[in-house]
Formats: sequence, structure tokens, C-alpha cells
Amino acid sequence: MMLTTTSKGYDEARLGFQRRDPHRPAVVFPVTSADEIEEAVRYSIDHDLRIAVQAAGHGLNEGIDGGVLIATAGFNGVTVDAGRKTAWIEAGATWRDVLTASAPYGLAPLSGSAPGVGAISYTLGGGLGLMARRYGYAADHVRRIEVVTPDGVRRNAEEDPDLFWALRGGGGNFGVVTGIEVDLFDVPTIFGGSLYFDLAEYPEVPEQWREWTQSVPDEVTSAIAILPIPDIPQVPEPVRGKYVGQVQLAILGERGEELIAPLRAIGTPVLDTVGVIPYVDSGQIFAEPERPDSYSSRNVLLDDLNALKTLPELAGPGASRMHVIGIRHLGGALAREPEIPNAVGRRAAKYSLTVLTPGKGTGGDKVLEPWRTAAVGRALNFSFGKLTAAEVADAYDDYNRLTNLQRRYDPTRRLWANHQLTELR
Ligand SMILES: Cc1cc2nc3c(=O)[nH]c(=O)nc-3n(C[C@H](O)[C@H](O)[C@H](O)COP(=O)(O)OP(=O)(O)OC[C@H]3O[C@@H](n4cnc5c(N)ncnc54)[C@H](O)[C@@H]3O)c2cc1C
Repeated sequence: MMLTTTSKGYDEARLGFQRRDPHRPAVVFPVTSADEIEEAVRYSIDHDLRIAVQAAGHGLNEGIDGGVLIATAGFNGVTVDAGRKTAWIEAGATWRDVLTASAPYGLAPLSGSAPGVGAISYTLGGGLGLMARRYGYAADHVRRIEVVTPDGVRRNAEEDPDLFWALRGGGGNFGVVTGIEVDLFDVPTIFGGSLYFDLAEYPEVPEQWREWTQSVPDEVTSAIAILPIPDIPQVPEPVRGKYVGQVQLAILGERGEELIAPLRAIGTPVLDTVGVIPYVDSGQIFAEPERPDSYSSRNVLLDDLNALKTLPELAGPGASRMHVIGIRHLGGALAREPEIPNAVGRRAAKYSLTVLTPGKGTGGDKVLEPWRTAAVGRALNFSFGKLTAAEVADAYDDYNRLTNLQRRYDPTRRLWANHQLTELR
């Protein structure tokens, strides 16, 4: 099936989660199979059109104007092989689809904070999940990838070690992936949730979380969101209108309570959702909004968290516009090269800091200014907004290998990936 701008269902097919600058394609292919993806790529070649791909639409930076949109949301099957502990994931499946398919076997994928995110989009960008410090990036546990390259050929990426390397971390710059096979892990439950502290009462929470992360084992993956929560009825009463430090915890093994004792010792949170939960419900750990919205963000990878004190002034309740600061603790398995190396870069980074700005505007740069001296790169999965080629290059250790490969597989620049490796026009 093919939809044009006047077809019924065109808007539904082109609009994803991120609404800041939606795709405005001439044609949408709402695909339901690998054959249909191949057909859509061939159509683009025959009509000399650019191709954008959209799964759940959280990662969109700049919508395509004209050209072809391959909308994969309806191609979302997940097949679990419980014996081999793997899942075959079709192009448009979200983490929620993978979580649901894996849970009956007591298995879990390397999913992230928001179950609504596309599993393949996330993994192509590296994929920093809830068990990341124990198992590494999602891209470190990919066994097979099937992809239709911009010449219209369907391939098993593993047959070209360069292509297999690039797709795992190098994003959607080399072809349209039809499916991937990933490892699953024996994790039926996890000790997780959030401690929401009122920063007016406990301003030292971000610093105390930083100190705590210095000594935790790899079983602990954690993050903190620092944000002024709007004073509106849609927000739960205990956090409404407060400047909050939300410590987000995902801990494997039996020692969860013991390990978080230093955090509990800080004081009484206004809201505490921490406990043992089925992994399938792990979306409640970060409890991120699930309604489509407009937002932009800037990210920086850091080797030190040395400017926490600047956040209340630049991004607190008195700042000129609202920012949500998200800091994730890295290290552990994230710092180790996987068995089969991939394009994920900057593994030595110790923290990832994202400044997310709701709405149409931007403004994160000013908040990031004090972090310059500690910056060691950037994570593209957490960068929502157009970046320069130099900024994209900053995410990688071997950017030249990626651009060489792009010249080989996409010499005419048919693909409109969310983060272009080099400028398009
Ligand atoms: C609330 C929220 C929470 C998040 N949490 C995490 C997290 O915990 N960890 C993390 O690492 N990231 C996280 N992210 C970032 C997220 O992983 C990326 O934005 C991801 O790209 C979103 O996938 P999507 O399918 O929703 O987006 P889409 O906008 O549909 O896809 C993003 C891009 O991926 C590429 N792409 C998608 N499908 C294909 C395909 N089949 N073949 C080739 N290219 C393709 C395209 O270039 C596309 O533009 C989060 C984002 C949000 C908004």
C-alpha cells in the first residue's frame, strides 16, 4: 500500500511521537513486511526520491519534505527463541512489544527507560538501557541484522563485517533494517523505581547521588532527572509545583535495599516508587510521559560531574524557560568493547547529561556551557535537534570509517537518517 498527501490515513501514518517538525513526505509506505520495505526502497530508486524511516517517532529531528517515508509501526512482530535466549525483532516493534513477548519465558531485553521507543531505532543508535552497566549497550548484544541497502538489495549485514560494525551504533545511515536478532537475559524481575526528592528541602541530592555512583557495583544502573515540575492538575499532588530530583534506579540481584541505603539516608522523598517489579513493567521506573509532544535536547558525555551547582540557576524554577536535566551513570560494561566490536564510541565517558527543552524552542546550550571542560563526546540517542557534522562526529571514535562506508552503501545520499553523518545539501 502507498499513501499520498490526499489519502485517508496519511497523517496517521506520518505522525510519530515527536511533533516539533513532523515528516511531510510525498508518499508514505505503511509497511507490514520485509518484502514491502524492499518494494518501497525500489520505488524510491525508480523515482529518484529520498527515504526517511519512522518506527515510533521519538527520535525525529528534522522532518523530510517530499520523498518517501517508510512507516514501520505496523511491522512489529517479535519472535522469542527461549532455548537460545534470543528475540527476532521486526522493524517497527517497540520495546513494549519485545518486553511483552519475552516476559512469559522470564527473559528480558536490553530495553531503555521508555517502553514506547522503537527497539531497532534505539539499538542502531547504541541503546543505553536499564541494565546497561551490567550488560553494556543494546548494540553490544545484536547477533544478526537484515537490511535493505539504498541500492535496493536485501542483505544479511553480518556478511559484511564493516556494515555489521556500522549498523550497531552508527544509526540509520546505511540502509533500512527489516529485522534484528538480539540476546535476551534471565531477568524476570528487577529492583527498581524512583525516589523523588524535593530539592528545596534536600538541595544536596544530585551531589549525593554522584558520590554514591562512585562506589556502586555494575549490577546498579541509575540516573537522576532534575526538573521544576509544573503546578498543574495533571501532575500527581506530591510532586506538583516542586523542584524535584528524581533518582531513577534499576538494580539486578538481591541486594537492592542494602545498596540504596545511602540514598534513603538523605531524607524522606515526596514520592517513593522503588521495589521489586516484573521487568515487563520497567517503564514505571522512569515513568516518562507517553503522550506525543514537541521537544528538543542537547547532550554531552562527561568524565566528571563537576558543574552540578550551576543547574539550579540555569535550569531551575527561576530559569527563563523550562529544562529537564537527565544524567545517567555510565561505566561498567558500557566501558568495555563487546566481543564483536561495533561503532558505539566514547566508552570511557562516566556520565551522560541531557538538557531537554519541552516545546518548539531550544536553549540547552547555555545550560551546557559550564560542562565544557569535562566533555568527552556526545550521545546521539539523547540529542533531539539538528546537529552539525562536527557535532555528529563527536559521538564516534572512528567517524571516518562510518563516512567511508556511507559513501560505499549510499553514494547518492538517498537516506534521510535522524542524524546525518555529513551535511546533506
Ligand atoms: C522519552 C524517551 C526516552 C528515551 N529513552 C532512551 C533510553 O533509555 N536509552 C536510549 O538509548 N535512548 C533513549 N531514547 C532515545 C531513543 O532511543 C531514540 O530517540 C530512538 O531513535 C527512538 O526510536 P523511535 O523508533 O521512537 O524513533 P524514530 O523517530 O521512529 O526513529 C529514529 C531514527 O531511527 C532510524 N530508523 C528507525 N527505524 C529504522 C530502520 N528500520 N532502519 C534504518 N533506520 C531506522 C531513522 O533514522 C529514524 O529517523 C529515549 C527517547 C525518548 C523520547
